[in-house]
Amino acid sequence: MTVRITLVRGDITRQHADALVNAANSSLLGGGGVDGAIHRRGGPEILEACRALRASHYGKGLPAGQAVATTAGRLDAQWVIHTVGPVFSKSEDRSELLASCHRESLRVADELGARTVAFPAISTGVYRWPLEDAARIAVETVRHTPTSVEEVRFVLYDERAYEVFAAEVG
Ligand code: ADP
Repeated sequence: MTVRITLVRGDITRQHADALVNAANSSLLGGGGVDGAIHRRGGPEILEACRALRASHYGKGLPAGQAVATTAGRLDAQWVIHTVGPVFSKSEDRSELLASCHRESLRVADELGARTVAFPAISTGVYRWPLEDAARIAVETVRHTPTSVEEVRFVLYDERAYEVFAAEVG
């Protein structure tokens, strides 16, 4: 079965899904944007779980392109899947890392048995990835990754991001 891609405009922390993907930074200890919103609304349990992951597996932080799951705390989901997007660079093509964020998040979702997964537009905020290009990489990667996830929902915070993803999904 191929994954169904849906789009909504809104705040990812208001979504109900089996798993919500966090555009984390490699410290796993919180930040701005999606990350800040997830920790604020999800409560301290998520940060505690992140701290434990840092202590046990990721002493140097979670590398860009990888993904790891924690509890979703008070969010309306079972899990948060933290993935670290690459910072956009003009001099170096980091597209493969952005694709990897989507592939690895789906792999973790499969391991967990998640059927519905909500993604933000990874790397398009503080990490400055041009929206059109990020949307193309995100949608193509999800389309081409074998997974048991039934629905991938891209949650776009503003109208422009929504329009760009809508054009990409077609
Ligand atoms: P990154 O560091 O990967 O660029 P950001 O969190 O800064 O991550 O931004 C990623 C995208 O998520 C941006 O397009 C931003 O507008 C959007 N965004 C910010 N807050 C939220 C939210 N609460 N829900 C969904 N998307 C959000």
